[in-house]
Amino acid sequence: MIDVSLLGTGGTLPLPDRFLSSLLVRHGGRLIVVDCGEGTQVSLRRLGWGLKDIGTILITHFHADHIAGLPGLLLTIGNSGRGSDEPLSIVGPRGIQRVAESLRVIAPHLPYPIRYREMTGDSVDTFEIGDLKLRACLGEHDLTCLAYRFDLSRAPAFQPELAKEIGLPVQMWRVLQKGTPVEFNNRMVQPEEVLGPPRPGLSLGFLTDSRPTRKLVEFFTDVDLLVTEATYGDPEDQPKAIDNKHMTFAESAALGAAARAKNLWFTHFTPAMPNPDYFRKHAEAVYPGVVLGREHLSMTLSYPD
Ligand SMILES: [Zn+2]
Ligand SMILES: [Zn+2]
Repeated sequence: MIDVSLLGTGGTLPLPDRFLSSLLVRHGGRLIVVDCGEGTQVSLRRLGWGLKDIGTILITHFHADHIAGLPGLLLTIGNSGRGSDEPLSIVGPRGIQRVAESLRVIAPHLPYPIRYREMTGDSVDTFEIGDLKLRACLGEHDLTCLAYRFDLSRAPAFQPELAKEIGLPVQMWRVLQKGTPVEFNNRMVQPEEVLGPPRPGLSLGFLTDSRPTRKLVEFFTDVDLLVTEATYGDPEDQPKAIDNKHMTFAESAALGAAARAKNLWFTHFTPAMPNPDYFRKHAEAVYPGVVLGREHLSMTLSYPD
């Protein structure tokens, strides 16, 4: 199970009724914040999923609306009781340590250690957060920007009837279920002998800020939920989207459709668009069922059975 909540949906600057684009992910008691503009910690408090358990902060790129809230959030996590034995990881594009440490001039003393992890966007570069596997892919923005994808793999189902056929004692079932072979009747019994076929896991994608690219479509293929920037609603703003390296509603919807995303949420709306709903039809024409993000829109990704 993965819980997801949008902390904000704004691009460029926070508005009185719109926090900056940020996502909170919860899995196995761990919290992950993706992007951290000004005001993100206020939205986190309102949501109420806690602050102390934030063990990872992912940064997509070094524009203020995605990182300027970092020092304040780090201090707040410190005040919430995170201790010296609970390191916090900050993950981002090349240079993340330099940029984050520069911001930390105003937040030098934290009660917990920080670890930095640069991601290149190379497909073999992965980062484990508990049993979630994180990968990154380069977007197309006016500076290096990473899209992120979380995958939770699912073990095949244990088949008790196969174990019974072999005559395995029940206490060995659990070991095999975890993927470890066991010795029984003078031979090694392999997990595959008592497990069913592979089962699909769960996945979540996050993209902002970027133009749509073929590589991103591949990267997000078949995700259960794609949260993507959709900066401009009006199709007439496409030249602006191209110039500023963002997307229109129609383009973001086309990206979600091409990647066969099972759910699609929009975020990172330009401050010049007070009512994104007005342009909904341009997205729905391409991806019926698209959801225009709003603060604290939440979802639990879980296995169908
Ligand atoms: Zn932005
Ligand atoms: Zn940007």
